[in-house]
Amino acid sequence: MTGLLFPPELHILGLYSSPEYVLVISNIFAYIISPRVKVLPRLIQKIAWGPTVKDFIFIPDRKFDYLPGQYMEWTLPHDRPDNRGVRRYFTLASSPTEETLRIGIKFYARGSSFKQSLWSMGRSTPIAAAQLGGDFTLPEDNTRKLVFIAGGIGITPFRSMLKYLVDTNDQRPVTLLYAERDPADLAYDDVLSEATHRLGTRVVYTLARRPSQHADLPGAVRLQQRVTPQLISEEVPDYEDCLFYISGSHTMVESVQDGLRSMGVQEHDIKTDFFPGYA
Ligand SMILES: Cc1cc2nc3c(=O)[nH]c(=O)nc-3n(C[C@H](O)[C@H](O)[C@H](O)COP(=O)(O)OP(=O)(O)OC[C@H]3O[C@@H](n4cnc5c(N)ncnc54)[C@H](O)[C@@H]3O)c2cc1C
Repeated sequence: MTGLLFPPELHILGLYSSPEYVLVISNIFAYIISPRVKVLPRLIQKIAWGPTVKDFIFIPDRKFDYLPGQYMEWTLPHDRPDNRGVRRYFTLASSPTEETLRIGIKFYARGSSFKQSLWSMGRSTPIAAAQLGGDFTLPEDNTRKLVFIAGGIGITPFRSMLKYLVDTNDQRPVTLLYAERDPADLAYDDVLSEATHRLGTRVVYTLARRPSQHADLPGAVRLQQRVTPQLISEEVPDYEDCLFYISGSHTMVESVQDGLRSMGVQEHDIKTDFFPGYA
């Protein structure tokens, strides 16, 4: 819409198009068409999967509809916010079939004021979630073979989708390739285990080193960190028939996407979701 209104010679109701008008009109339009969901979730549990990955589980103040793989904008007011402010987008790692809302977060040693406040938040800390969005969601055609490729905390949308498939007993053919730098930070082995047993989901972990803590991972382990075309063709020999979902850092998503292109996978068979700010 911004592009359509931008030509400077455009003249509507006595007003000439200018960047300021165009941005105001486009924002009003975006506000009108975007889904109006706002919830005030109450924290009920934190789960530390590893040293830098934590889940936050909430009870929402009301039920609302969302699709597995969608995200929301989370507002956490806190003292002395740094220049990145009090809002962040986080994928809903929960499934719409669950009563609770869940987010899975990657933390850094010298992280933002937002993440520091999130890390230490208690049950009575106010937080709000709004601006539901995202089309990194399951395809309607449930016969498609799916390959999910997660880099680190990029696993969150796949936790949501797999939990949804388990709870609705939707037996789609799925292979999950889950790459993680530090095996101590692997998450969601409970849901991945349910998916392997109840749906026949294939899980392959690609790890820089063998995990010590999670001895019983619900899948095969490959000792190589990067998801390369060779690894994909070995683990998914029928890759030409599959729909690929890639989620993780920008670099990881681009590198896997380039790899798939070099294998001849069509653009419309690759869906991507990268988390800005996640290295
Ligand atoms: C649609 C969408 C979904 C997302 N889903 C998730 C999700 O499920 N889980 C998740 O963890 N993230 C997710 N993200 C990313 C998330 O929104 C944050 O952008 C990201 O986690 C970075 O957070 P942060 O800015 O608080 O920085 P931090 O994570 O605290 O730090 C990020 C990097 O910046 C450095 N840094 C920190 N503070 C500063 C500073 N003041 N100045 C300079 N450098 C600094 C850190 O050392 C680190 O290298 C998602 C993003 C989008 C857009």
